[in-house]
Amino acid sequence: MDTKVFDVREIINDKQALETALRNAADMLAYGGTVAFPTETVYGLGANAFDEAAVKKVFEAKGRPSDNPLIIHIADMSQLKGLVKSVPERALRLMESFWPGPLSIIMEKEDRIPDCVTAGLGTAAVRMPENPEAYVLLKLAGCPVAAPSANLSGKPSPTKPEHVLHDLDGRVSGIVLGRTCDVGIESTVIDMSTDSPVILRPGIIIKEDIEAVIGPVRLASRKNSSESVPKAPGMKYTHYAPDAPMILFEGSPSEMLSKILGRASEELASGKKVGIIATDETLDLYEKSPVLSGAGSICILSTGSRKDLKTVAHNIFHILRRFDEENVDIILSEAFEAEGIGFSVMNRMDKAAGEKK
Ligand code: AMP
Ligand code: MG
Repeated sequence: MDTKVFDVREIINDKQALETALRNAADMLAYGGTVAFPTETVYGLGANAFDEAAVKKVFEAKGRPSDNPLIIHIADMSQLKGLVKSVPERALRLMESFWPGPLSIIMEKEDRIPDCVTAGLGTAAVRMPENPEAYVLLKLAGCPVAAPSANLSGKPSPTKPEHVLHDLDGRVSGIVLGRTCDVGIESTVIDMSTDSPVILRPGIIIKEDIEAVIGPVRLASRKNSSESVPKAPGMKYTHYAPDAPMILFEGSPSEMLSKILGRASEELASGKKVGIIATDETLDLYEKSPVLSGAGSICILSTGSRKDLKTVAHNIFHILRRFDEENVDIILSEAFEAEGIGFSVMNRMDKAAGEKK
């Protein structure tokens, strides 16, 4: 397929120019095409949510299993009417607090939404993104846009325009090249379709942020969300996996450091190229370690400081993709404390790693 590229990186702050540049991309969406676009969380691959054939092309382009539902993106509140049966009062309060922004809200769906969008569920996840390119595109398209992340199924979610080109050029109608995604991990997903709200997927908006607005909510456990919450079918799939196997090392910072140094030297000795996911606190310690100095081929990347988990979330998928580019044979990663945003980061790292130590 010939993919049309809409490079708006030079004009992201000029709303008028964006409208002119994205009119054609919006028409593609409205008339049955598939278009990848930036949001503040990760890049999405969209299709008109009311157009069954178009939505099926999204699943095809990604190689996405058909039982993994999509999130429907809207530009303004008036679009909710055709999508959900009703907006529960607490859901409305969440919208007022967090929209536009990185929160997807699950509600009972209108019959008009094709089954393929929601994988046959009676509910739909809806989100109003904040990213200006996404806003202009959705506004001009005039239709709700069903969009999962714009990666090939199983690969790390794309947070930079070049990630999308790498995965989807030639497989979709259009790609909007905009800014790097601020948040860097996918939206928080909360199920508001029952009386007891539950966070099915953790994100940058955390449990405490939500509870400050609507009171107590449940959080699906870190492990095996698919078993504890059968309503989130997509979560049973391995996600985000880099090409090389990844091992996650847990423990205190010094334990993680020594376990990773030990394993790295073994892997290097057997001729492997090793990738290490470090933090700002440990980067130097790996780089200067006598255990690793001069020993074979190694690539050490920092996700950021342990004191700044927003930055860690922002960087994590990009770093996983960097190791693909570096062609490492194995990735050894430090873990984070599964608290607050750390819980959301660890949710992604658990899915990327095949093994824990
Ligand atoms: P992606 O945008 O690629 O992260 O995929 C969207 C994710 O949102 C899915 O994998 C599900 O976990 C979640 N989701 C979307 N719609 C629903 C729904 N109706 N019920 C439960 N989870 C949903
Ligand atoms: Mg995805």
